[in-house]
Amino acid sequence: MSEKKGILERLAEGPVIGDGSMIFTLERRGYAKAGPWTPEATVEYPDAVLQLHREFVRAGADVVQTCTFYASDGRLTYAQDKNEITHTSVELNDAACKLARKAADENGCLVCGGISPVPAFAQKKGESIVRREFSKQIEVYRKHDVDFVMCEFFNDIREVEICASEMKKLKKPFALSMRLGVMGDVNGVSVEECAIRMAKTGADIIGNNCIYDVNTSLKVIKRVKEALEKEDLHPYLLCQPLGMHCPETETSQMGYLSLPEFPFALDPRVMTRIEVHEFARKAWKLGVRYIGGCCGFEPHLIAAISQELAPERGGKQPPIRDMMQAFGGVFFKKSAVSNIASGKQSSREYWCGLKAGTGRPYNPALSQILDNKFQFDKDN
Ligand SMILES: [Zn+2]
Repeated sequence: MSEKKGILERLAEGPVIGDGSMIFTLERRGYAKAGPWTPEATVEYPDAVLQLHREFVRAGADVVQTCTFYASDGRLTYAQDKNEITHTSVELNDAACKLARKAADENGCLVCGGISPVPAFAQKKGESIVRREFSKQIEVYRKHDVDFVMCEFFNDIREVEICASEMKKLKKPFALSMRLGVMGDVNGVSVEECAIRMAKTGADIIGNNCIYDVNTSLKVIKRVKEALEKEDLHPYLLCQPLGMHCPETETSQMGYLSLPEFPFALDPRVMTRIEVHEFARKAWKLGVRYIGGCCGFEPHLIAAISQELAPERGGKQPPIRDMMQAFGGVFFKKSAVSNIASGKQSSREYWCGLKAGTGRPYNPALSQILDNKFQFDKDN
């Protein structure tokens, strides 16, 4: 259709930068509801969705993923009261494709159709209903001729396999990504077995996304890689972790969803862009080719990935001009604040050695729930 390089060509050449958090960020901006996490915004607030797409593109993302998380009819019905259901899955997916295509075409990016788990699977409604839920979304992606599809956030390898077999009918490249922790999937199927089974579906890209932080996610993807090598399987690897720290949830199947702070008090856990530079470098060294973010990965954090990996991308910097242009050294040189411009803060070493504070004297590293609730009402 166009002369644009496809996802597989781009992966063969070097790192591909994914985009970041859509529905999680839209909720914070007032365009989505916490709880359902469904994307009615594609129809109700198209400007807000398009703006967020554009911000990720400006931060250096190569891919614009449709804002279609939980956009199956089953999820729309499950998550809301009947009178709150305003749109069908097809309507939401259709609107999402148009917005993603617009943002992608402005900058030569690819459109990735997004698919997430459907409640019919966990509710044991039967395989044909599960397949129908996936195929309704896939048909919209066929109509809009998306460049590839990302099936993500799965926690049961059996649902992944059903989804993959529907995906193959589309005859486009596709990625499979599980919210996979160190204990394996929801039924305890090991990381290694999940990796092998995902690869054996014929998926072009496999990996993990969401619910765990960068450290846990990298541990998991390392095991994925080793398991695949043993079996002589070679799909491209993907990693799109949380943009927040949650080390204590590593042994929970729910990951950050199990935190007492979820979803309204997560802010102190957000990663700095410096930490994202480190993540991007480690992921690349591990052999991950598709590197992006999930919940909490705001545009400036995606920019940190594309800036860190600029040397591997032929020096290609994100289009942004106003942010840290070179964590390698130049960015403060023209600062009006001369003591900063001439000081150590213009070096990469300074930032890599910094342990950033939270500014909250009584906050522990891990959360606590105290008895003296509503303390803030009593102060002063
Ligand atoms: Zn997420």
